[in-house]
Amino acid sequence: MENVKVRCNICKILKDGFSIKHYNLKICQDCYPYFFTKRVDSTIDKFKMFDRQSDLLIAISGGKDSLSVTKALKELDYNLRALHINLNITDFSKKSQEIVQKFCLAEKIPLKIINLNDEINATLKELSRIAKKPVCAVCGMLRRYFMNREANESIIVTGHTLNDEVSFILKNLLFWNDELLLRIYPILEKREGLNKKAKPLCFITEEETIAYCKVLNIEYYDQTCPYKPEVYEIFKRTVENFNNKLPGSILGFYKGFLKRSMTLKSHLSNLSNIKPCQLCGYPTNSSICSICRIKEKLLQYKNG
Ligand code: AMP
Ligand code: ZN
Repeated sequence: MENVKVRCNICKILKDGFSIKHYNLKICQDCYPYFFTKRVDSTIDKFKMFDRQSDLLIAISGGKDSLSVTKALKELDYNLRALHINLNITDFSKKSQEIVQKFCLAEKIPLKIINLNDEINATLKELSRIAKKPVCAVCGMLRRYFMNREANESIIVTGHTLNDEVSFILKNLLFWNDELLLRIYPILEKREGLNKKAKPLCFITEEETIAYCKVLNIEYYDQTCPYKPEVYEIFKRTVENFNNKLPGSILGFYKGFLKRSMTLKSHLSNLSNIKPCQLCGYPTNSSICSICRIKEKLLQYKNG
């Protein structure tokens, strides 16, 4: 979204602003935060994600998306606290944590930081070797585990955007990963020990979160995690390309997917075989969850 002179569709004045092609709208910089938060709020209403009485736990990474959703929910007067998970990925984690701490302090948002070191005595790389899974997969498992553990009765909110959702759908279509495809939705209801999860930015593109941070002077960390695999970048770029060359296409695609997934969802409930882990209670489809299995293997490994 380029910064251009626009006749704003909201205040009707000619000013610096943005041309949002997929909505065919021109919004000035002064009206943009209002426009952005209003769309976040209408997504929350549409999917009945939560209300002003709900306790929200926002997972903040330090990137533009999770900072944007946190700022928007704060402006909209929702009741929130934040969680940041530091996975000790070299400088990447150090800088991300600094940005999150600075932001939460300035916005007066209570923040809890979890450090992998204090939880499991191993690096992500060691855990990946022990679990025989890519670093990125282990990282995702750990993040979900800590988020659920810290949430108590709160609803977990993440900064997943329209780009993330569409990338994930395309990837799981390409590899026909039916079970993951069926799980994609703006809200995931509470079930078997997993908290309710909501993605209020599911209709908002990354260009729009960049613009929101820029207009509000929100400092964010603009680096991709060094462990993200190449395949992630391929889908990310494909989705950006679709949106640039065919404005509105990814939004239409996502809305179409949600309509169809309603019928497929009932199928998922028949597939599910989830029960609590015998060691920690976290939901799993075997007797011991993947995190406790990694911890056991780590013990064996360290004891020779
Ligand atoms: P990603 O999987 O990196 O695209 O992140 C998706 C969402 O997960 C972000 O928008 C955040 O809400 C959350 N998230 C990612 N990394 C972290 C982290 N280190 N700590 C807390 N939340 C995170
Ligand atoms: Zn305006």
